[in-house]
Amino acid sequence: MLKDEDRIFTNLYNDQGADIVSAQKRSDWKDTHEIINKGKEWIISEVKLSELRGRGGAGFPTGLKWSFAPKEVGSKPHYLVINADESEPGTCKDRDIMRFEPHKLIEGCLLASYAVSAHKCYIYIRGEYANEGKKLQNAINEAYEKKLIGKNSCNSGWDLDIYIHYGAGAYICGEETALLESLEGKKGLPRLKPPFPALIGLYGCPTIINNVETIAVIPTILRRGGKWFASLGRPKNTGSKIYCISGNVNNPCNVEEEMGIPLKDLIEKHAGGVVGGWDNLKAVIPGGSSMPLIPKQICENIKMDFDECVENKTGLGTAGIVVINKDQDIIKCMARIARFYKHESCGQCTPCREGSGWMWRMLERMARGEASRDEVDMLMDVTKQIEGHTICAFGEGSAWPVQGLLRHFKKEVAKRNNFNPLVDRNKNIPYLVDQHLLEK
Ligand code: SF4
Repeated sequence: MLKDEDRIFTNLYNDQGADIVSAQKRSDWKDTHEIINKGKEWIISEVKLSELRGRGGAGFPTGLKWSFAPKEVGSKPHYLVINADESEPGTCKDRDIMRFEPHKLIEGCLLASYAVSAHKCYIYIRGEYANEGKKLQNAINEAYEKKLIGKNSCNSGWDLDIYIHYGAGAYICGEETALLESLEGKKGLPRLKPPFPALIGLYGCPTIINNVETIAVIPTILRRGGKWFASLGRPKNTGSKIYCISGNVNNPCNVEEEMGIPLKDLIEKHAGGVVGGWDNLKAVIPGGSSMPLIPKQICENIKMDFDECVENKTGLGTAGIVVINKDQDIIKCMARIARFYKHESCGQCTPCREGSGWMWRMLERMARGEASRDEVDMLMDVTKQIEGHTICAFGEGSAWPVQGLLRHFKKEVAKRNNFNPLVDRNKNIPYLVDQHLLEK
């Protein structure tokens, strides 16, 4: 459990106020000038030492990402872009940072911009976060008035301007290159990588893109030291993290906890337990809707960090934990998620555009009990044809939840659709093809 003195977001529930005076009482903007004076190399090495991994879903090491930006500014300016699109169903941590801890984010923008040599920072917020955007803009105005950002920010000699840009509500604009396209005023269509944005990003210039939570923890890391952050959690999975717990729990909430906290503790101690009791738990989606679900037996012991989730064939993602109890129809739940991905596919790649519709339609049939035995195999095959064959990770995000369902709830699918999951109906032999695909 995270000790109170190690908590970064002390105003996560807004009991102290989000304005600049309250923020400064919480040590925001304290000695920012001195931190900047230590230099870019020191900032990047401290972030590397902290082993901070991006909090937007992919978990890429932040210090390493920053070091990809060219050391010297050439003919093109550098940009810092903050991904505040937060469209992953089950996730609402960045929303609370922007409305209750905006100064942590703004100070983080200054420090990160300085480290990657950017004088302009764009914060791309999803359009639905209009109120959060207003609060963030108020905080930006406060920071300008106090000369914490703008010309000669914090008296450090560094100039920084921060602009908010609102998206129009497309899930795909949370993908970093689609976000850049949208920011440039075009359709949010993901770009092929390489080239990576660190070299060719916004307007063709070197651009570092980070999630809101990633940037908001930077000031505290630099103040308390990378070693302190790395002492929380376990190696390569360090620090604290805001977990969003929703679904069939008695007290849905956002909570900052140490990386690697047991999932059961999060649900029982922070979210008031599963509706109907722990034994009424059916499955949990641990990292936003694009991650494979895990059944109750895995939920008993799994610890919530990047590597342990991967070991259990799922992902920490955004740490948007969705709890599903036995009162729900798990096949219908997954059909609904598949419908969401079908709707949000940008349509550039055939496997994603067509496959997401196939998956949705087959799952609807399975939920109604109208699917044939062969369709289960075909559904797994479709997920495998999408995975790894698309421009962006949306393809995997749409395929993984379906794989999770077939991996853990095949018996339930078989029962609903009246066939024996272990025997091939036509050949009367043990049915192992999909098992083989699962283990690939
Ligand atoms: Fe678009 Fe899907 Fe291809 Fe991503 S994977 S570029 S969302 S069609």
